[in-house]
Amino acid sequence: MAFELPDLPYAHDALANKGMSAETLEYHHDIHHNAYVTNGNKAIEGTQWDGKSLEEIIKGTYEPNAVAQSGIFNNISQLWNHNQFWEMMTPGDSKMPGELESALNNTFGSVDKFKDEFKAAGAGQFGSGWAWLVKDTDGSFKVTKTENGVNPICFGQTALLGCDVWEHSYYIDFRNKRPAYLENFLDNLVNWENVASRM
Ligand code: FE
Repeated sequence: MAFELPDLPYAHDALANKGMSAETLEYHHDIHHNAYVTNGNKAIEGTQWDGKSLEEIIKGTYEPNAVAQSGIFNNISQLWNHNQFWEMMTPGDSKMPGELESALNNTFGSVDKFKDEFKAAGAGQFGSGWAWLVKDTDGSFKVTKTENGVNPICFGQTALLGCDVWEHSYYIDFRNKRPAYLENFLDNLVNWENVASRM
C-alpha cells in the first residue's frame, strides 16, 4: 500500500501568531512533504521495500559512511521526519511535563542549557538537515544533528524532538536567520507533551 500525506494536525494558519506562517505550512507540508510521499512511493514501487513500514525502510536502506544516501532512503526518511515534525508543534499553550523537565535538568544542567545545545546543533548543521533530542540506546538523552534526511532511527535511537533546519522550513518567516527560527521553535512552537510521550 502506498504511503499517504497525513493532514496537518492543525489549520495551516494555526501557528501564524507563533512565528510559522500559513505560507510556510502551505509550501512545507502541501508541497515539500507531499513530494517526499510521491517520490518515496515511486522509488519503492516494485522493490523489496514495497509493503514495508517507513521504519523498516529507513533502517534497511541507510548506508553508514556513504557520501550520499539513495533516493529511497532520502525520500522515505524525509517522509517520516515530517510526519513527526508537525506533531512536535502545537498552536496551543504547552507546558513541559515534569518527567521531561527532570530528565533535561539531569542531563544538561537546566532546560535553558538544553535549549542552548539544541540551538547550537541546529545552527551548526552545515547545509540541510535536522537538530534532534534523542534517547540513545543506553537510555541517555543527547542532542544531535544530522544531514539531509538522516534521522535517529538510523542509529537505533528514539527521536524525542526534531527541528527541520532545511531552508524551506524557515526562509519565508525568518529569511536567513536560522538561529532566530530555532529559538522561536523552542520557545513558542514545541509540543512538550508530545516530546514527553516519546520517552
Ligand atoms: Fe522540511
